[in-house]
Amino acid sequence: MAMNKVPGHNIYIGGIFSLKNKTALSRANITHVLSVLRLQPTDETLLAYQHHRIEVDDVEDENLLEHFPSTIKFIQSGLDAGGGVLVHCAMGKSRSATICIAYLLHCQRSALTPQSALALLREIRPLCEPNSGFMEQLNVYHQMGCPEDVTSHPLYSRWLYNREVEGSVACGRAPEMESILFEDEQPQQRVDPTGQSIDIKCRRCRRKLAIAPFVVPHGSHGDAKAAIKSDCAHIFLNPLTWMRPSLFPNSPDASASPSTEDAPLSGRLTCPNTSCGSNIGKFAWQGMQCSCGDWVVPAIGLAKARVDVSEPVTIRRGPAILPPGIRLPPNMRVSRMETDADSKSESESVKGSL
Ligand SMILES: [Zn+2]
Ligand SMILES: [Zn+2]
Repeated sequence: MAMNKVPGHNIYIGGIFSLKNKTALSRANITHVLSVLRLQPTDETLLAYQHHRIEVDDVEDENLLEHFPSTIKFIQSGLDAGGGVLVHCAMGKSRSATICIAYLLHCQRSALTPQSALALLREIRPLCEPNSGFMEQLNVYHQMGCPEDVTSHPLYSRWLYNREVEGSVACGRAPEMESILFEDEQPQQRVDPTGQSIDIKCRRCRRKLAIAPFVVPHGSHGDAKAAIKSDCAHIFLNPLTWMRPSLFPNSPDASASPSTEDAPLSGRLTCPNTSCGSNIGKFAWQGMQCSCGDWVVPAIGLAKARVDVSEPVTIRRGPAILPPGIRLPPNMRVSRMETDADSKSESESVKGSL
């Protein structure tokens, strides 16, 4: 199949055989060729072009994401020089389409999504179909805001972590401790706007175990607060530093000589307070089914029956009519306060409730 021109840009997408069609290449004024495949194209015609090669296979767990910035830069340099750019892989279906979509997203990050950019490409080349791993990488790239530097972005670390867990579990083993993203050690912690002040403590010893931003929402419980308040038997968490002895019982010290025993795929979570040591939940890297029926993968779950959830009662607005430090009991809080935009009627309603 011939190469096709990407709408709106002097970029062409094709398979390996597009390199053979010298007439078409010259008619399209191709000056730059980007090869996205492991095979070394041996065609001598490549010598006539600026050439850049990314050695990747068309498999779902291949890391193409880390190459987005360099490939986009290469494409841009060709276009800026007034030339045409051929992006090719073997078939012009998955790898090259992924790079073209990344380029389109980079140019129009607010106007396009990975899906709509793919739809654009399919208008000129219906066979375009990035594999599901590449589509996910495009989604991550788009969520990041299509940055120049992908690998230092926190979402990249998260994606690598998920990929490592999936890869390990597929081989029936726990992930390496070094690859775990301990959420409380991340420089830029994810901020969940809901339930910031909610603490989760060990029921027996009151040791603080987590705060709401470390909770993993699941299923219909779309945010941390909803997940905590749900009827589910577990509250699922991201990996946290205190879990190390439970998750990796055979490596008490990361600097010690590596243990020959593998970390368990699943097990119990123990309270980090050594004088307590209660069994407070369980973990399963391969995932577990919550009592609500949803699967959580990987799953690190605190048993609701073993923990207490405390939420300080605070007045979010209306300090003008309440002396500082005065907190209303929950049954006196006025729901209108949180929904009513009219501050006058709001303060009146608070007065009324007092
Ligand atoms: Zn405890
Ligand atoms: Zn659930």
